Amino acid sequence: PTEAAATNASVSESDRSSVFHSWSAQGSLAPLPLAGGLGSTVWDVDGREYLDFSSQLVNVNIGHQHPKVVAAIQEQAARLTTVAPAHANETRAEAAHLILERAPEGFSKVFFTNGGADANENAIRMARLFTGRDKVISHYRSYHGNTGGAIVATGDWRRMPNEYATGHVHAFGPYLYRSEFWAESPEQEAERALHHLERVVQAEGAQTIAAILLETIPGTAGILVPPPGYLAGVREIADRYGILLILDEVMAGFARTGEWFAFDAFGVRPDLITFAKGVNSGYVPVGGVVISDPVSHHFDERVFPGGLTYSGHPLAAASIVAALTAMEEEGVVSNAKRIGSEVLAPALAALSRHDIVGEVRGTGVFWAVELVSDREARTPLDAATMGRFKTDLLSRGLLPFISENRIHVVPPAVVTDEEARRGVAIIDEALAAL
Ligand code: PLP
Repeated sequence: PTEAAATNASVSESDRSSVFHSWSAQGSLAPLPLAGGLGSTVWDVDGREYLDFSSQLVNVNIGHQHPKVVAAIQEQAARLTTVAPAHANETRAEAAHLILERAPEGFSKVFFTNGGADANENAIRMARLFTGRDKVISHYRSYHGNTGGAIVATGDWRRMPNEYATGHVHAFGPYLYRSEFWAESPEQEAERALHHLERVVQAEGAQTIAAILLETIPGTAGILVPPPGYLAGVREIADRYGILLILDEVMAGFARTGEWFAFDAFGVRPDLITFAKGVNSGYVPVGGVVISDPVSHHFDERVFPGGLTYSGHPLAAASIVAALTAMEEEGVVSNAKRIGSEVLAPALAALSRHDIVGEVRGTGVFWAVELVSDREARTPLDAATMGRFKTDLLSRGLLPFISENRIHVVPPAVVTDEEARRGVAIIDEALAAL
């Protein structure tokens, strides 16, 4: 009774005075203070509700505060809150088994990390040690995380001030709407992007390349669903030149695309899979590498020179076990697929009646809507207008994920039909107002 209750204003002020935020100039930030959430809804400190169409950082696939996942973390905390990675632990092994059950044939080990960046870091390390080669090819339009190698593997602007790791090469991937290859069809885009990739491999020297590292569906870069044949073609190039294929499933994996792994829909099998986010919906920080047998056996008699104090942390492991079990029992993966095809696909396609909608693309609960000031020229809508659009969406009760000139429509995979329709209706109204 002696302390004043927290408000949006008091939490904002406290945050501003002490918290240093990611990817930002610190001076003029005004982050939305969030106090709680349930399912696909979050609320601020003043009690105002928002439909969470961002899934925070596209990671809360199972929705906020799933009771079984919360209970599993609480039970594990009461039993054993931490354990060194060198020990065996039942919950950690069970988490690994549940992940491997969802991976293709020929994967039998999981290395746990603290998140997605260090998952990529360790996958790159494994590929280099396995092949005895150094270089890693990734796409310009990609994000792989904010650590030494992962940020240099990243394609976007965030790489440039951080380019201290060596051995990273980039190529353009397919993106028909803004084709680098003058393509006019998905077939042309796939064929020409593959030709470009193979020429980069040859020009760099195939014998110097350890891995091709790709997001199965580049997420932050714009949810760039690859055209048919592209990923299978990358697999062939990798095989032809003895290069490992690492698929980064950090954002796309564990229900986001309506599959356990996004590559399941493309009929390709990588050599290493990196994951984080959706595996436990971020309830506890965790990520990892799913390792194919040849790479795993390479380290049977050789020391793997890598490790982390919190590799396979019991709270993270318990949350993975509970999240994957609940997702299975509740049909969360199939819900994402059905919502994508039956609700989001038609509702988002209808947004094209607004002249500022340039393209709608996606799958499952993983969609992007590109906004343009000139439909013919495909000119990206400017940052100031996107800022107004974001503010308007918030005032209408929708928490959006805005990236450059796009809104990414990425609700939790547990979103209901009604919530999905309501969210798109809010976007529709805000586009009309724009
Ligand atoms: N890879 C992809 C595809 C991502 O989207 C992200 C994060 O957004 C990462 C890696 C990095 O993951 P983390 O932020 O957990 O390190």
